[in-house]
Amino acid sequence: MNIHEYQGKELLRKYGVAVPNGRVAFSVDEAVNAAKELGTAVSVVKAQIHAGGRGKAGGVKVAKNLDEVRTYAEEILGKTLVTHQTGPEGKEVKRLLIEEGCDIQKEYYIGLVLDRATSSVVMMASEEGGTEIEEVAAETPEKIFKEVIDPVTGLMPYQARRLAFNINIPKELVSKAVKFMMGLYKVFVDKDCSIAEINPLVTTGDGNVMALDAKLNFDDNALFRQKDIIEFRDLEEEDPKEIEASKYDLSYIALDGNIGCMVNGAGLAMATMDTIKHYSGDPANFLDVGGGATTEKVTEAFKIILSDKNVKGIFVNIFGGIMKCDVIAEGVVAATKQVGLELPLVVRLEGTNVDQGKKILEESGLNITSADSMADGAQKIVELVK
Ligand code: ADP
Ligand code: MG
Repeated sequence: MNIHEYQGKELLRKYGVAVPNGRVAFSVDEAVNAAKELGTAVSVVKAQIHAGGRGKAGGVKVAKNLDEVRTYAEEILGKTLVTHQTGPEGKEVKRLLIEEGCDIQKEYYIGLVLDRATSSVVMMASEEGGTEIEEVAAETPEKIFKEVIDPVTGLMPYQARRLAFNINIPKELVSKAVKFMMGLYKVFVDKDCSIAEINPLVTTGDGNVMALDAKLNFDDNALFRQKDIIEFRDLEEEDPKEIEASKYDLSYIALDGNIGCMVNGAGLAMATMDTIKHYSGDPANFLDVGGGATTEKVTEAFKIILSDKNVKGIFVNIFGGIMKCDVIAEGVVAATKQVGLELPLVVRLEGTNVDQGKKILEESGLNITSADSMADGAQKIVELVK
């Protein structure tokens, strides 16, 4: 789960991690009032969307007085911001963060991620802050330093110090940088983060080390024990199809192709998408209906797939293990009738009671193309959506 920058900063503040003072605003008047309350000479108006790259897209503006705060707030609120992370359709700005202007000396990068290779949390740091870390990694990888963190001891102060020295934090600020890193690590672990990225971390003219940006992601599987984090959820930032899917316990991720996929099991779903790609098709989604798919679930899955206007055909690829193929076939037929499906539909069934399943599909009188294998099904649906 993703949260907004201002929420991330609220959390960091609670853990003693330095961030600028700021307030959230939902309207232009609230923005001006927030700036008044902050009372700083310079304030920054920042678009709050679940995506980075806002600065370059005009979503971060420095205001030198209240009139400028009003002008920028009017300009940014309600605007659809297109950044390299939003996709071409962009994201509408519905909230602003009004923050005190910071006298930046230098911008750095600090990130915490789960590293699969070492099965550990890794802290990464670079003196190339402000820019995208992916670019630094591609062009000057020697400028990224890493510390693998032992889960038993946690981040050790000497590791934080080593990072601070490696990224050339001025000597007199190293202890503040260390405090910052230790606090950030504590947030990461306490709150079950999957990513905590501070870009930029800055040193300031008055000798502070603070987070000017905060991107925190949380492990969905741990949300049951993170009630305060769930409070931060902003459904308006999420794909309505994905929200609908989560209600029915379907794992659905929207993609930008035109072949809707309905599959059981995450592994088979991934393989199905790969196979479609292999035959030069483009999946419109990842969808795992789970092991115990009922008619109701299959119907909901169809509805969600069809609510995506890009979908030109559907490929159902089901392995009947615990589930029986005849039950699935009945579900597919019922769902197809219920939603009045007009698009091409290819169904590949395999496993228990596969023959009965195929018979049900054939005798349904519906326009369903049956496939004998995953490759066969993928080729057929790719052909049909052309
Ligand atoms: P994004 O990563 O989405 O572009 P950031 O929060 O990183 O957004 O802001 C972009 C840039 O704007 C930062 O690198 C920094 O230079 C500047 N900036 C952001 N917040 C402030 C602030 N409070 N004071 C001064 N400059 C800021
Ligand atoms: Mg940033």
